[in-house]
Amino acid sequence: MAALIHIENLFRYYGDHCAVAGINFDLQPCEVLGFLGPNGAGKSTTMQIISGVLAPSSGSVRLDGFNLQEDPVRAKRTLGYLPEVPPLYPEMRVDEYLRYCARLHQIGTSDTDRAVARAKERCGLKPMGSRVIGNLSKGYQQRVGIAQAIIHNPRIIILDEPTSGLDPNQVREIRTLIRDLAEERGILLSTHILPEVQSLCDRALILYQGGLVYSGPVSQQQRNRLLITLATDDAENGYLTTLPGVLQVEPLSPHQFRLTLSDKCSPADIAEAIVKHGGQLCELRTDQDDLERIFTQATLGGRVQ
Ligand code: ADP
Repeated sequence: MAALIHIENLFRYYGDHCAVAGINFDLQPCEVLGFLGPNGAGKSTTMQIISGVLAPSSGSVRLDGFNLQEDPVRAKRTLGYLPEVPPLYPEMRVDEYLRYCARLHQIGTSDTDRAVARAKERCGLKPMGSRVIGNLSKGYQQRVGIAQAIIHNPRIIILDEPTSGLDPNQVREIRTLIRDLAEERGILLSTHILPEVQSLCDRALILYQGGLVYSGPVSQQQRNRLLITLATDDAENGYLTTLPGVLQVEPLSPHQFRLTLSDKCSPADIAEAIVKHGGQLCELRTDQDDLERIFTQATLGGRVQ
């Protein structure tokens, strides 16, 4: 399958300062790709280059097969972009604003009503057409921001921190919407919220000082790692290393351990084996901190394997 975004050897300098230092990556159809990195890593610069707002110093960007430098109009048609601050006009009504966005994307008059209706339907905005944008809650304003990004039915969507500043219910709704949208498209999602990446993304990229220091799955490793808490003291827990399927035992405190399991071993097998051994199991959960560890390692200690 051809990549929706194909980035090759991308560089961007601001004067002498190298903000993006020769990165390469692809976004595949139906994929949600998390784009991570500390502030100043080069994420916004990269997203601005991909969305055609900023020219690269060198390197190439292909969007759904079109070269952004050589064929900018057709390349940009394939992409919808929601910047960190949604480009909304608070005094406009939702329908009025989306019709305006449709015109900017050169959607013909006869197709505009259909495009607006489809974007509203996708974003759960059907009853909101006549509401003034400035009077909507932040969650609904964000939906309007996403609706403008998909008004021209692009195959690629770039979302810059789409859930920042939303309450937990709104966050859940927007995440569901993002997953739904990914069923037909590819999404590049920039966020600082690591659990968001874990719950939404298929893969993560971590950018640090302009370079790509990690590219890989977000959930593969955590399936084989368990965090367990036992009531018994450290001295009595030596048997953990002998349990079938346990590859590694890492003590985190006298009562808490991180276990790495073989592929064939399930958390239920481990719970059963510990109890059989007379261990007093207080807590057992999959290790949710993997991405955090990858992020810390990648941005403090260089490239992660
Ligand atoms: P991020 O989005 O990851 O926070 P940015 O892409 O905004 O990172 O910035 C990457 C680097 O480029 C930073 O060192 C930043 O200071 C610098 N930078 C960003 N925009 C400009 C600009 N317009 N002029 C000069 N330097 C810039």
